[in-house]
Amino acid sequence: MTNKLFTDFPFVSEIQAAIKKTGYEKPTPIQVAAIPHLLENKDLIGCAQTGTGKTAAFALPLIQKLVTRKKTTPAKNAQSLILTPTRELAVQIHENFKTYGQGAKIKIVLAYGGVSIGPQIRDLQLGADVLIATPGRLLDLMHQNKVTLKMVETFILDEADRMLDMGFIHDIKKIIAELPRSRQTILFSATLPKEIESLAQSILINPVRVDVAPPATTAEKVAQSVMYVETSQKRDLLRHLLLKPEYKRVIVFTRTKHGANRVSEVLTKNKVRSEAIHGNKSQNARLRALDNLKSGSIQVLIATDVAARGIDIDNITHVINYDVPNVAENYVHRIGRTARAGTAGIAISFCDIEEKAFIQDIEKTIKLKIDIDRKHPYHSVKVEQAQVLSKGKAKAQLEQNSQQRQNKYKRLRKVFGGSKKGVQSQQRPRR
Ligand code: AMP
Repeated sequence: MTNKLFTDFPFVSEIQAAIKKTGYEKPTPIQVAAIPHLLENKDLIGCAQTGTGKTAAFALPLIQKLVTRKKTTPAKNAQSLILTPTRELAVQIHENFKTYGQGAKIKIVLAYGGVSIGPQIRDLQLGADVLIATPGRLLDLMHQNKVTLKMVETFILDEADRMLDMGFIHDIKKIIAELPRSRQTILFSATLPKEIESLAQSILINPVRVDVAPPATTAEKVAQSVMYVETSQKRDLLRHLLLKPEYKRVIVFTRTKHGANRVSEVLTKNKVRSEAIHGNKSQNARLRALDNLKSGSIQVLIATDVAARGIDIDNITHVINYDVPNVAENYVHRIGRTARAGTAGIAISFCDIEEKAFIQDIEKTIKLKIDIDRKHPYHSVKVEQAQVLSKGKAKAQLEQNSQQRQNKYKRLRKVFGGSKKGVQSQQRPRR
């Protein structure tokens, strides 16, 4: 099965040529498993996360369908719809379609929120062979009668579990209600919680089920380590690591957006080329930061879990968990950024006393023991020897610490009576 080649699929010459240009040697397991069924127009439920090559798995057969049917799409209509949870993911899917569809004349329209709706309305005026959208903006466009879904023949719901986490499930149901009954439906999800299983049952007809690479498989490919360090020294440890030449293209994860901003400030002060992305940043700022990391004009991207979901940047050398996530699944997603489509990567977690509980939980999930790296100047024996708290206690303690930091910060603002900036430049509380 793994010996299958792209040329074994009955793709038209434009698609074969586009694949050749990408330099992919052979299809990934999800592609091998899904493409033949999708070419037969079957419904499919795929359990796969980003990094497995799932976008090409659905994009290539869809392009084939569009090219061979040669239907023109009337104004304000779409022949196929791809729903995806985040703008970044929408942009990445778009890039994939541009790559694989370069020889084919297909009209692709991108519709996501956080940017002006006008250009999207104009694009839809010409009809979309492929409409890639986030749920909120699509509903907006539908309410304004700028698009109708009555001609959609292929519907792809991407990252369904993330949609659920982000509270999009009702929006999705509203959108599905507007689709024609007769259509091909494809659902991809990294995990299959009950709600997604039941949604799948209600929208898919006799689906083929394809499972690849459960999260633990990604984890196995990443060289992981834990560095015990007190929170007050995390910034010094980070600076220390980033001075090493092998830390070329790094993503640093923080639990909160404030945390992301704080790390970003410290790095900027230390002349480390970095940018932060999180929910409060404008869409353009987020995309710019991603481009800068891709092009190498910044060394470090600091991100929260939500902002980083679906980021697809090749050759990430290191993922650093500045804060250990308290949800094991987020850990798996984070470290997955450094092991894309078969490549290995390095992930390091900075761990203070409270976070030992989360590491324990993560180890259970990934079924691996994470190595402890003591060979750094900020290794804390106190943290290493501390007892592991229960997860509940650890969360409460972290919450309390964060509250104390905020109170201290407020007090400082009062004392210095100035702007946030004034406080920061004079005496910023340490994390
Ligand atoms: P995805 O899971 O769709 O987010 O894809 C992850 C990455 O894998 C993207 O950078 C793709 O360009 C890349 N990719 C997709 N298919 C292949 C393949 N057959 N061989 C090598 N890389 C691939």
